Amino acid sequence: MSHTSLVFNSPFFDTLNQKERDDNIAECLTCGICVSRCTWYDGEGGPNPRQMVRMAQLGLDDLLAQNPMIWDCMVCNHCTEACPMGITMGEVIRKARSLKMAEDLIPQDIRDGIKRRLETGDVNGFTKTDFIETIDWLNEEIKDENDDPKALIPYDQQGARYLYLPNPRELGMNVMHLTAMARLFYAFGEPWTMSSRHTDVTNWGYFIGDDDITRTMALQVVEAAEDLGIKTLVLSECGHAFVVLRKLLHELIGRKPGFNVMSIVELTLEMAEKGAIKLNRETHPYPIIYHDPCNLGRKSGVFEVPRRLLSMVCREVVELHPNRQNAVCCGGGGGLLQDSTSLKKRMISGKAKADQIRVAGAKHVATACLSCHRQLTELSKEYKLEVKVDTVAALAEEAL
Ligand code: SF4
Ligand code: SF4
Repeated sequence: MSHTSLVFNSPFFDTLNQKERDDNIAECLTCGICVSRCTWYDGEGGPNPRQMVRMAQLGLDDLLAQNPMIWDCMVCNHCTEACPMGITMGEVIRKARSLKMAEDLIPQDIRDGIKRRLETGDVNGFTKTDFIETIDWLNEEIKDENDDPKALIPYDQQGARYLYLPNPRELGMNVMHLTAMARLFYAFGEPWTMSSRHTDVTNWGYFIGDDDITRTMALQVVEAAEDLGIKTLVLSECGHAFVVLRKLLHELIGRKPGFNVMSIVELTLEMAEKGAIKLNRETHPYPIIYHDPCNLGRKSGVFEVPRRLLSMVCREVVELHPNRQNAVCCGGGGGLLQDSTSLKKRMISGKAKADQIRVAGAKHVATACLSCHRQLTELSKEYKLEVKVDTVAALAEEAL
């Protein structure tokens, strides 16, 4: 029988005890408000945030690091919003996942994806040759619809104004999304490009809480973008990529990158508001629900930009309740979606979101994250919601 000892000066405790007042695990009141806020725990099992913080507080590193709860947590920070001491659950979990003794629990798919991403630059192992073949094939299809050479998807264009960084799914099972984004860029009318050297917006190093891997992956993007001399890096709709490449990038790589970072949703709204593109609200003459991705909303404070764009392309934006800062996670966050064995769990962790959508009543849901998009699509099937799920940028392209 193994014994666990309380170690009040464990490395884990010390790391988490560095934080300022009101966000310090040492101040946990064990009040349990976080437990009441966790929609996963409120369902059927899932993480128990008070217990996880208590383990961290008591220095029970081994007990916490080897507890599957740290991988059930969606790192959504919904509990953090209500914690009287402001303890950031996402940080507790990311640090717990990064402990050496937590290595064995990393889901195999995430482990494999990280290896491929570090070796090839793409989480699916998509090589430069694969990329060029895919874009050349898509360009043949585009030529059938539009004979203007400017409508083609450019790559490796030195000095272009924008570099679009796609989600790996846009180069695989969802190439239609990439061609839709290409039509948006064509409408913007400014030089843009993709990069054959780096093709992946995601950063799974962030899921495992490993700052060195997260930094290495971020630098793969930064170096490819700086070598092309672009002015603005435009991110595909991806919540955790927005956190890493927009919110944390400067701190992560220790310097300001030589370009600005925007999401495709922000850029499309900017183009629409300055009149560079015209959007037709009547393209979707019905109400559309907006779901806040946790990484984009609660963790990055981007609430109104996607709503403003959505309001330009449909009859009415429908809110879920609660929303914005208090929005409920779709159930796929924190790496759950990236683990192919998680479907059963995700249908439980996402039940609160499915219930919200059913109550809202509309039959179309939009979000600004391709991971949320997939989870919401699967929830619709599981809970027979019969809703169509789209991304905000894809709806904007339809409304051109
Ligand atoms: S809500 Fe905050 S203070 Fe209360 S138990 Fe949870 S982590 Fe501790
Ligand atoms: S899933 Fe979200 S609400 Fe539940 S413990 Fe994790 S961060 Fe907190």
